[in-house]
Amino acid sequence: MTELLACRDLTAGYGDAHAIRNVNIEVAAGEVVALLGPNGAGKTTTLLSLTGVLPIASGEVAWLGAPASGSLHQRARQGLAYVSEGRSVFQRLTVRQNLAIARDGDAERAIEVFPELRKLLGRRAGLLSGGEQQMLTLARALTRPTRLLVADELSLGLAPRTVGRLLQTVRQMADGGMGVLLVEQHVNRVLDIADRVYVLRQGTIQFAGTAKEARGRMHEIRGMYLSG
Ligand code: ATP
Repeated sequence: MTELLACRDLTAGYGDAHAIRNVNIEVAAGEVVALLGPNGAGKTTTLLSLTGVLPIASGEVAWLGAPASGSLHQRARQGLAYVSEGRSVFQRLTVRQNLAIARDGDAERAIEVFPELRKLLGRRAGLLSGGEQQMLTLARALTRPTRLLVADELSLGLAPRTVGRLLQTVRQMADGGMGVLLVEQHVNRVLDIADRVYVLRQGTIQFAGTAKEARGRMHEIRGMYLSG
């Protein structure tokens, strides 16, 4: 499997406070990797430092097999799509405009993945349901060839059925060869589609293994959430 993104002994945070310490994570093409953990564990901080948004304090990040040095914008041009927490569509613009604005990519590719957006192209994004807005967010990220999708709580606030639909789409994207790194609160749902799992607690990785291994140690992993 082609390794897309990896970090070794990654330590990062805000000022002198290190929100994450000595984190080791890898994501290869074709796999869905879930990053789990209680509130405040450092999941968002990990994504921000892996994608080049937040400077790292120490350790190494490798992107496409070489030490990562560029900004998120530069990595985006090399196929990194980062969907941050919270809906990030332009509410006042139509779906079509949202897709056209998303860099200089091909909106048609995104509509192939989310055919339901086609009938909504003329509608203002702010009038879409929560699930439709998240689909549009994902679709915007896919308007150019994507090697790795990094998404932070894609399913936040969505109805259970929509969560399932989004996660299944993410699985299909990985089956098509894309790598995916997901932060997700719905532990059971994400284990259904993930290949591998990391659990962060208080800024350090407490568990790393396959989704099957995670299921086998669910009791222990639940405990990590409770003791946050
Ligand atoms: P959640 O699931 O609640 O989003 P998380 O696992 O994503 O949590 P982070 O958002 O990475 O956790 O936060 C990790 C730690 O860093 C927390 O203690 C948080 O308070 C702190 N933190 C996050 N953002 C900042 C910031 N901009 N400045 C200072 N501290 C921050």
